[in-house]
Amino acid sequence: MNINNSNIPFLDLKAINQEYEDSINETLARKVASGWYILGEEVKKFEQSFANYCGTKHCIGVANGLDALILLLKASEFPVGSEILVPSNTYIASILAISLAGLKPVLVEPDLHTYLIDPKNIEEKINANTKGILVVHLYGKCCEMEEILRIAQKNNLKVFEDAAQSHGAIYKSKKAGNLSDGAGFSFYPTKNLGAMGDAGAVTTNNDELANKIRALRNYGSGEKYIFDEQGLNSRLDEMQAAILSIKLPNLDKENEARQKLARKYLENIKNSKVILPSTEMVEMDAWHLFVVRVEDRQKFREYLTSYKIGTDVHYPVPPHKQKAYHEWNNHSFPISEKIHNEIVSLPLNIALSEVQINYIIDIINLY
Ligand SMILES: *Cc1c(COP(=O)(O)O)cnc(C)c1O
Repeated sequence: MNINNSNIPFLDLKAINQEYEDSINETLARKVASGWYILGEEVKKFEQSFANYCGTKHCIGVANGLDALILLLKASEFPVGSEILVPSNTYIASILAISLAGLKPVLVEPDLHTYLIDPKNIEEKINANTKGILVVHLYGKCCEMEEILRIAQKNNLKVFEDAAQSHGAIYKSKKAGNLSDGAGFSFYPTKNLGAMGDAGAVTTNNDELANKIRALRNYGSGEKYIFDEQGLNSRLDEMQAAILSIKLPNLDKENEARQKLARKYLENIKNSKVILPSTEMVEMDAWHLFVVRVEDRQKFREYLTSYKIGTDVHYPVPPHKQKAYHEWNNHSFPISEKIHNEIVSLPLNIALSEVQINYIIDIINLY
């Protein structure tokens, strides 16, 4: 076995951005000298290239992923209090976006094996107030869109994607962000496409929705100092857009590296105590995270820590057990609870070497 005495951090953002450092420094110096810092040419350029990348007609740069989702829902103009279905195991932002848009989140249990919203559990949650479904392509894997869109169409619902973890993920030859009425992306530094600060975007093929979001991200203003609606301040800045334009051309290459690492884990981790993620579509997924399930999570994490292997948990407490949603604290979502209790994220990023991955596999197989 490989003896490796150096730490393997769960994620090292400095290492991940190293290859871009020179060209980012150069570009930022140019931006500083330009005197134009918000919603300018760099934002337009990035919006165009990210729309092309996703295959959508529009991309609207915004301040962060949460705002992207809020703006999508606000621009859809559902009656106040309308219900939006959302998976019960997701990052809190998916659910908060619905609440902050003045709508009511209704939780739907996921599938234990994919960790994604289970289409079989959707229809029982639909009533006369239900207006949409916000699916989450969690950990970089696309939801079962064909079945979800069929249910939505039958019940006259809009479908939106939380694509914050799935830049470049593919579903039946289309990219995440181009599978519904509109999607929200985050470019938080840890995401597959990460800025060096907060940043986000909406993608859509709907002209009217795109125009509305363009105005809403800038105080509801289409024309300078004229406000047709009550909008937000959720603008993307030129620095972040410039950084994203530098990194976007490498996204597919980086996703391929993630897929290669994921395949290596899937083929070589052999331990009955460690349940691997479902495997049918290794080369379609964006592998934002590699998430395994282990019954005694704490013991497993401590074991890996003793071998200097960093792990994380995405996420330890399900949304319905959070104080922020105390009205749900007594509700039961057993699948989501089981997932939240047992999941562990292993290191999976482009800074890991072959040697480090082999070491992690060896250590896990000896657990
Ligand atoms: C990161 C993330 C968000 C929010 O993005 P921010 O840019 O942090 O606002 C939303 N949903 C999911 C699933 C995320 O992982």
